[in-house]
Amino acid sequence: MKPISIGIDIGGTNTKYGIADREGNILASNSIPTTNYPDPKVFVKAMHQAITDMIADCGEEVELLGIGIGAPNANYYTGTIEEAPNLSWKGVVPLVKYFEEYFPHASVVITNDANAAAIGEMIYGGAKGMRDFCVITLGTGVGSGFVVNGGLVYGHDGFAGEFGHVIAVPGGRLCTCGRRGCVETYGSARGVVLSVQEELAGTTSPSKLRSIAPEDMTPKDVFLAAESGDVIAQHAFEATGKVLGESLANLVAFTSPEAIFFFGGVAKAGKWILEPIERHLKQNLLNIYQKNMVKLIPSYLPESDAAILGASSLVWKEVDHMPSQARSTSSA
Ligand SMILES: [Zn+2]
Repeated sequence: MKPISIGIDIGGTNTKYGIADREGNILASNSIPTTNYPDPKVFVKAMHQAITDMIADCGEEVELLGIGIGAPNANYYTGTIEEAPNLSWKGVVPLVKYFEEYFPHASVVITNDANAAAIGEMIYGGAKGMRDFCVITLGTGVGSGFVVNGGLVYGHDGFAGEFGHVIAVPGGRLCTCGRRGCVETYGSARGVVLSVQEELAGTTSPSKLRSIAPEDMTPKDVFLAAESGDVIAQHAFEATGKVLGESLANLVAFTSPEAIFFFGGVAKAGKWILEPIERHLKQNLLNIYQKNMVKLIPSYLPESDAAILGASSLVWKEVDHMPSQARSTSSA
């Protein structure tokens, strides 16, 4: 029987789930609207049915080893989701417990989506064989997962690694966390759009970005404008890269990673964002880190499957660390 793990990525709008094997092949995948389930217990019941059907229909003899879940504000230690701003589930939701009631023989692991992305990069992606690296997600928000000495850093309470809420510009832009100047207010999709607005306000020079309403503008619009020679767009990426590069120079001083992987919509701007990040990082890097400089690498995970792969990889990470005896019992 082929060992498999289930990856579940819980988002505010949709929950994606799929079956992955140890090599990172997705055998089947699907999604359900998270918003249809205001009660998390009903959600888990629906997921149990959906997963059971998917395994039955996948056309292979498989052995379910575990279920990995990536979710906002998820805590690896407590198995809970706490006060996630984008979910309708309020308070502390013991999601791992609910899943274990339906899947008593599977190991169920939960963590936040950026940590899942880091393990996904380690198990299936560009960080194979690396023991010290981090993954920075530049999307709706800015997230991060830190791997140190081969293990994910969770911190004493499970909330380690919030690079998005490191203060990069004291007194700067207001963040959703209520404080000012967080990396997220510059490096997220919204941060890039804000930088475009600031550039537009400071000049009368023409730009195709003037015709796009700020609420409709995406990093892809800014990327396409930059590609076509739009100086406003290029400056906005330069400003974003400056804040990210300076902050990452500080990050390197904490864990000295071999590589930093970038994932998410803003990272897809390629050289327009990576080149200024690298330049500002280098300019601000302590001299001992200059010689064998950290590598900046776009994520190897395919965009379409990354969320499911990241979540499913949590299971392999757990299983690889279990004694063989425990493993055969848990998968019985
Ligand atoms: Zn913040």
